[in-house]
Amino acid sequence: MKRHRIDVDDNVSMWAQTVDPVEPRPVLEGVVNADVAIVGAGFTGMSTAYEMRRRFPELGIVVLEARTVGNGASGRNGGMMLNWVNGIDSKDETLTKRIWATTQHGMDWITETIRTEDLRVRLRRDGCLETFTSQQRAEEAHRKAERLQKRDPRPAIEERYPNRQGYLESVKTAAHRLAGEGYLLESDIPSVLAGAGEKWDYLLEHRH
Ligand SMILES: Cc1cc2nc3c(=O)[nH]c(=O)nc-3n(C[C@H](O)[C@H](O)[C@H](O)COP(=O)(O)OP(=O)(O)OC[C@H]3O[C@@H](n4cnc5c(N)ncnc54)[C@H](O)[C@@H]3O)c2cc1C
Repeated sequence: MKRHRIDVDDNVSMWAQTVDPVEPRPVLEGVVNADVAIVGAGFTGMSTAYEMRRRFPELGIVVLEARTVGNGASGRNGGMMLNWVNGIDSKDETLTKRIWATTQHGMDWITETIRTEDLRVRLRRDGCLETFTSQQRAEEAHRKAERLQKRDPRPAIEERYPNRQGYLESVKTAAHRLAGEGYLLESDIPSVLAGAGEKWDYLLEHRH
């Protein structure tokens, strides 16, 4: 069998430096038969192996790791359990609820596993603090937090449009399209625009 060198970096994480040294498992030699082979002993691989072992004890499960358990991001991260998936800014209520429930479930799973397995982990679950360095971003975050509390993921009108003018331009474009399709009279467009302007002013005035 041809062997390839796996290019994984040699740095040791801060977390790894603060735990008792572990005896490395023997290197894989020859052929090993298994029902399930998992490549990579990070959170993904290890939690999959753990759950499969628990639910299907009859299965032969092998975890293959190039270096050590937690060698990748799992052993080098900030150690925070957070209630969201980075990079997703959901405007969809169903998706928002799903991400929240899934990440909540993940945190409960970790907490429960630490308890059941009596792991030596300093776990704290007392919320998190996010800081903002500009008033505008702080206010946006405050509005977002209020919406999430009400389970309403829809962004505020001023988050969807750059400013009043931008909002009115969008309304105007939509009104002309509807008029072209025969759903609105051309002569009604000015009053639609006036109503949209009043709506913008009202919403911003009654924001807080
Ligand atoms: C700096 C940083 C900070 C982060 N902070 C947080 C945080 O605070 N909270 C949070 O929830 N998430 C955080 N994350 C994200 C989180 O750490 C990762 O999403 C998570 O660890 C990914 O786990 P994984 O098991 O999928 O991958 P990894 O942990 O990368 O595991 C992959 C494993 O596969 C092994 N491997 C690779 N190729 C092979 C091969 N060919 N054969 C055998 N083994 C192989 C690697 O050695 C490694 O051990 C952070 C990530 C980074 C980088």
